[in-house]
Amino acid sequence: MDSLRNIPAIDELLSDHRVKTIEDSVIRHVVVRKLREAVNEVRSRLRAENANLPRAEIADAVITKLSQELEQLKKPTLKKVVNATGVVLHTNLGRALLAPSAARYLTEIAEAYVNLEIDLETGERGSRYVHVEDLLINLTGAEAALVVNNNAAAVLLALNTMASGREVIVSRGQLVEIGGSFRIPEVMKASGARLVEVGTTNKTYLRDYEEAITENTALLLSVHPSNYRILGFTSEVPLEHLAQLGKKTGLPIMQDLGSGVLCDLTEWKLPGEPTVRECIERGADIVTFSGDKMLGGPQAGIIVGKKRYVEAMKKNQLTRALRVDKLTIAALEATLIEYLTGKQFDNIPALRMLTMDENALLARAEHLEKMLVEALGSYGKVKSVRVVRTEDRVGGGAYPLHALSGYAVEVTVEEGTLGTTAKKLRTGEPAVLARTRDSSLIFSVRTLLEGDYEIIAGRMQDILKG
Ligand SMILES: *Cc1c(COP(=O)(O)O)cnc(C)c1O
Repeated sequence: MDSLRNIPAIDELLSDHRVKTIEDSVIRHVVVRKLREAVNEVRSRLRAENANLPRAEIADAVITKLSQELEQLKKPTLKKVVNATGVVLHTNLGRALLAPSAARYLTEIAEAYVNLEIDLETGERGSRYVHVEDLLINLTGAEAALVVNNNAAAVLLALNTMASGREVIVSRGQLVEIGGSFRIPEVMKASGARLVEVGTTNKTYLRDYEEAITENTALLLSVHPSNYRILGFTSEVPLEHLAQLGKKTGLPIMQDLGSGVLCDLTEWKLPGEPTVRECIERGADIVTFSGDKMLGGPQAGIIVGKKRYVEAMKKNQLTRALRVDKLTIAALEATLIEYLTGKQFDNIPALRMLTMDENALLARAEHLEKMLVEALGSYGKVKSVRVVRTEDRVGGGAYPLHALSGYAVEVTVEEGTLGTTAKKLRTGEPAVLARTRDSSLIFSVRTLLEGDYEIIAGRMQDILKG
């Protein structure tokens, strides 16, 4: 216990030349705070081990700890991850990658003053919402558009504006939960609207909506079942029938589309998700969707539809709380311009990955296989390296039942070493996320970027040679 008395005082440690050097690169009050933590930790350790250390050694231990902690704190926690999962819009990995044009434009805008809320023509105050509106109107055929922070915000704002204090009719088959935190009944509650459920989980008919309409009804809501499908004995009311009922009763129809496909994908065997334009054509008065799912842009919630509803949303106080910044607007504008110019399949990473040709995927897998064989060939811990077929996924709550057939490299490791290998891949730098199966790591090539092949081979070599 004596060595506890040997622990140097904070002031004494602060005058140590090593701590002075640390202070060159970290502000003082954080150094002091972390120094106290390091002292406390060393004290607990000495107590637990009942160790007897001289003063200088204790100081060394504290300063080493301090320096490690501060080095850690200086590194950003958000970092690049190599996505070898084959899930293109992986919510946990940040969904869509931006197109190079969007990333470039975003950087340019970030470091400059911009005409975010000024009309340069008149010199008068303008609105940040004009910037993407024309593009969205032209691409979707809607009368008006508004962009907020994410689709959850878009749904909240639309419901609050159009139905607060009144009733919204939704089919029981569409009371979805997306990604753990977005649940239609809860968003409805938060918006101040009252949910009226109709039909059953598997069958809802037009007459169910019709019978539920009262003088308190504000809106008929259709929610796209993004991340699930009800199969078998099922029936949902098509949007155009709902729209006819809306016309007859004077009620607006809102479609929460989720993914927001902006262009026709049937050519790439990705059928079944309606495009935003189709929803407008079929009679939806308001359509909401995400910017970072199938659209392939930044996180955003996009609302398109009838001008009078969108104008009312713009005037809602909530809009101020849900508003997007100039960076989102910049990235979204550049992404939408790719669609306008018909370059989306070449330049938007999500769409490029989703529509990648199988032969190209096979060639990529063979390339990765070759690199891994070269890197790992002589290690006993590796049983085999081979190209396999794989089922990749769209992700982001789109096409839940649709497997994208692709290719991967399967690396089979010695029995019992898979867990540690996968963990080292995840926790090292750059982090690599792959799927695992039996005793194998599966590296899907669809979601790999240029340079990722070398990273995977290098990291696998470092992990398995030791
Ligand atoms: C994804 C999704 C949402 C939530 O969108 P975020 O942009 O993640 O907030 C809402 N509704 C549907 C139908 C969705 O698919």
